[in-house]
Formats: sequence, structure tokens, C-alpha cells
Amino acid sequence: MTHTATEAAGQTDVPQARALAADTITLVRRWLTEASKVPVDASAEQLAGVLKDPNGLDFTVGFVDGVVRPEDLTVAARNLAALAPKVPAFLPWYMRSAVRLGGTMAPVLPQVVIPIARRVLREMVGHLIVDATDAKLGPAIAKIRKDGIKLNVNLLGEAVLGEHEASRRLAGTHTLLARPDVDYVSIKVSSTVAPHSAWAFDEAVEHVVEKLTPLFAKAASFPKAKFINLDMEEYKDLDMTIAVFTRILDKPEFKNLEAGIVLQAYLPDALSAMIRLQDWAAERRANGGAAIKVRVVKGANLPMEHVESSLHDWPLATWHTKQDSDTNYKRVINYSLHPDRINNVRIGVAGHNLFDIAFAWLLAKQRGIADTAQQSIEFEMLLGMAQGQAEAVKKDVGSLLLYTPVVHPAEFDVAIAYLIRRLEEGASQDNFMSAVFELSENEVLFEREQRRFLASLDTLDDEVPRPTGSRTVASRRSPCRMTPSRTPRTPTRRCPPTAPGAAPSWTVSRPPRWATPRSPPPPSVTPTPSTPSSPPPSRRARPGVP
Ligand SMILES: Cc1cc2nc3c(=O)[nH]c(=O)nc-3n(C[C@H](O)[C@H](O)[C@H](O)COP(=O)(O)OP(=O)(O)OC[C@H]3O[C@@H](n4cnc5c(N)ncnc54)[C@H](O)[C@@H]3O)c2cc1C
Repeated sequence: MTHTATEAAGQTDVPQARALAADTITLVRRWLTEASKVPVDASAEQLAGVLKDPNGLDFTVGFVDGVVRPEDLTVAARNLAALAPKVPAFLPWYMRSAVRLGGTMAPVLPQVVIPIARRVLREMVGHLIVDATDAKLGPAIAKIRKDGIKLNVNLLGEAVLGEHEASRRLAGTHTLLARPDVDYVSIKVSSTVAPHSAWAFDEAVEHVVEKLTPLFAKAASFPKAKFINLDMEEYKDLDMTIAVFTRILDKPEFKNLEAGIVLQAYLPDALSAMIRLQDWAAERRANGGAAIKVRVVKGANLPMEHVESSLHDWPLATWHTKQDSDTNYKRVINYSLHPDRINNVRIGVAGHNLFDIAFAWLLAKQRGIADTAQQSIEFEMLLGMAQGQAEAVKKDVGSLLLYTPVVHPAEFDVAIAYLIRRLEEGASQDNFMSAVFELSENEVLFEREQRRFLASLDTLDDEVPRPTGSRTVASRRSPCRMTPSRTPRTPTRRCPPTAPGAAPSWTVSRPPRWATPRSPPPPSVTPTPSTPSSPPPSRRARPGVP
């Protein structure tokens, strides 16, 4: 099936969606007032305060990376000594003194000082991550899960570099899923297999499907089936994750199993991917199968996508501005929250930006699908972030799904990537999280976020942005747009005119690679000597990929 932008998003919906601006702002104000009555978690407030310090991000990231990660205590001690002078002024005097003393003593007594320093950090971020040991996990889950709070449990880990670690991570998720107090888990495809060659797409998909199928079989085996969500991280795994997801659910034994996947709105590809999933899910439903769920996020891998792009001179996979990501988030939500589509694809609205949450909630109400009991729309937040706001939102929308990262204390270093993302999100003035504890009393910050919301709503349209994968290096900064922008934003170029009756270049007109029947494996999966620096297929104009 092909879509024009208008068919995909429905032209009349944009003005209706825009009309929700004032009500959204009113709702955010109410949520902030309610949230301000909820006592703030002391660790969360402390961490937010630290991140406000000019040295705060450097210090915490340096600490996590340089003091927690090294196996060698002498190295950790040296790093602590170098960091100590930068200790953020926000910390109470006794903590600052302890850090300075630790910095002086660490090179002399690393075996004593470093374990203490690591324990202090673990306590400081204890509200963000749960201890996965048997003795601690059960009580922690029982404490977090209360009325209207459901848990999505994710076993944290660093990038998987080999089969051994991949099997270990998968086994850990099997163990989690087997627990009676866990009914929803998340896992990334990249953590289930060793890194694959970007030239061997079909083989990689087949390999991951083989690895993940038993996990899906386990989820389906319970009297009330459990839920598996495939998380999304790097852009290069987008096509593969969708292919794995649909390939597994196409198996006859999983016809009635609901499962989920994530789309990142900071990718221009997000809406076309959503449309493809909608088409596929509609067919599945028409054949008597279960619906699927898509969690819509903005995307947490921005720094790495920049690194990848600049290292290889590939098109940047994401939008170039926060506003474009914000608009695209609304574009995907606007398309998805439709009575006929929601029966095929349930939507998880995931994020902490209260304006986007309020907007999605009001849009769902406007369209008569704000039924969280039926879970046609679900609101998702991260454990430990802005708990007062989470409470206020939950009160209105009925329930909340909390993303709950778990890690064994002995492997705390594997939580580093997750923590650094949260720290960076909290520190960047571009992000809502940087203002989260002050919005209710700081009118300047409220205005800043309101302005961003209105600007992103103003540029909402019914276009289907052209996927990054179909852009070449030459066109990387000029996504094709159907209509000129009305406000200044990332420069765009007009779509080339198309012959009457021909599919315009911005339509989703060709079957994506994951939807085509399996092609025979390529003759060789090793790049030829002349191609080692060429971008892998997912970054180039690829035949069969929109
Ligand atoms: C329950 C839950 C599950 C999640 N699961 C995933 C997941 O599977 N995969 C994943 O990648 N992320 C995931 N995230 C994280 C998410 O993608 C965001 O990083 C995070 O929620 C912050 O976005 P926001 O809308 O809450 O805040 P906002 O402050 O409104 O948005 C911040 C986001 O805007 C985007 N942005 C910021 N600056 C720029 C720029 N210059 N150019 C382009 N875009 C920019 C980035 O995506 C940034 O994270 C999840 C978040 C939640 C709450």
C-alpha cells in the first residue's frame, strides 16, 4: 500500500491538532501545580542541582566514566584525584569535603577510597536504577508498583561485543521474564547477538530472529501472555529491528501475541516507519491477529549519531534541530492517534516533556480514544525522573508505565551508558529535563518550554519526511519537503516535480526491505577491498528501502 502525505496524516487533522495549543498550556500549568505538592526525592533534586553547576556534567560524567568504570583501582584513584577540584558547589559542604579528601587520599589508599566513592555514587543514582539481585529486586518492584503504575523492566548492559555476552544478556532477560512479578520487559536487538556486518542484513535478521524467538515463546506461554518490547538505539539498527519484530510476529505461533517496538521521532524516518508498521499491523488484524504497540520517543542516541555522521561523512541520521525533532514527534503522534489506526497499533507516549504529554492526551481525547484502561494509548516515563510530575500525569491519564532499568551491583559499570544519557539530558538547556524541578516557580523557564512547544506545533504539517537512508551525502542537509516552511528551521528543498500519476518521491511507495520476501544471502558478506570506507547499506540510497 502506498500513502501520500495527505492520506497518511489526514489534512484536516493538523488545524484541529494546532487548536489544542491553549488547552495544552493550561493542562501543563495544572500538572505543575499538582506536582509541586508532591515531596521531591532528595537524590533526584541533588542530582539536578549538581547538573546545574557549570562543572556539574563534566564532574558527574567524569566520575561515572573515570572512577566507576576502570577495573584498575589505581587508574580510578588517579581520575578521582584529577576530578576532585571540580566538585560542584551545589553539593553540601560535607560531600564536597569528602570528595576533596577522597581525591587526596585515593592515590595513596585506592583499595579503601575507591569502593567508598563508588558506593556514594550508587546511592546518588539509586532512584534511577534498581538492584537486580534476587534479595533486592522483588521488594523494589513491590515498592514501585502501586495503583496505576506498571513496570517495564530492562536489564542494563553495555554494547555487546561477542556471542558470550549476547547469550548472557538474553539469559538474564529470560530470567526476568520468568519472575511472577515481571510481566513486561524491554530488550534491544543489538544486545542479543554479536555485532553483525552491515552488508549482511538478511543474515543478521535471521540470526536475531533465531535468538529472540524462544523469548517470545516464553512470553506467550504464560496464561496471561507477557509483553516484550524491542527498544531502539542506533539508527543503523532501525530497519533490522523492524524486520526482526515483524518476522517474529509473522510466525503462526505468535499470531495472538501482542508485542512492542520503539520509533524515535528525532529520525526523519519515524513517520514512514510508523506508516509501514501500521499497514503491516492492519493486515495482521484483518487476518485475526493481535495488535502491536509502538512506543514513540524522541531518541536518546543523538551524540553518537553525530559522531557516526562526522566520522564517516554520512548524512546525519537525525533532524538537525530540537524543534524539528519536537515537530516530528507531534507528526507521528498526530498520524497515529486515530480511531481506526489505534486498533492496529497501540501507542506508547514516552517522554518527560509535559507539553508533549499533555498535547497527546488532549489529542486522544479530542479523537475519542483516550482510553488508558483499554491501553489504546499508554503513557510511559523513566523510573526516578520527576516523580511529582509523573504523579500528576498519572492522576489524569489513569496509569503510567515506568521504564525500570535493573543492574547487578557487581556490574554497576554497565549502567554507565544509561546514566550518562540521563545526565546529559538533565544538563542540556535544549532539553525539558534541565528545567524539570523549577518550572512551577520559574516563569522564565516555563516561557522557554512553552515557546518551544508552540514553535514546534506551529510547524506541524501532514508531510511524510523523507527517510535519512534514502538521502545521499550531497542531499543530507536538505530533506525534501512538500511545502515551504512557514517559519525559519532547517533548510529544506522542494520535492522535485513528478510526472502525473507517478508516485512523488516523498511517498512511501516501495516495499521496505524488511517487508520483502527473504532474498538469498549475498555471495559474500565481506566488503571488497575497494569498499571498506563506504557507508553500509543502511546509510546510503538503498534499493528497496524508502
Ligand atoms: C519510557 C521511556 C522509554 C524510552 N525508550 C527509549 C528508546 O527505546 N530509545 C531511545 O532512543 N530513547 C528512549 N527514551 C528516551 C527518549 O528518546 C528521550 O531521550 C527522552 O525522553 C527525552 O525526551 P523528552 O521528549 O522527554 O524531552 P525533550 O527535552 O522535549 O526532548 C529532548 C530530546 O530532543 C531531541 N533533541 C535535543 N536536541 C536536539 C537537536 N539539537 N537536534 C535534534 N534533536 C534534538 C533528543 O531526542 C532529545 O533526547 C525513552 C524515554 C522514556 C521516557
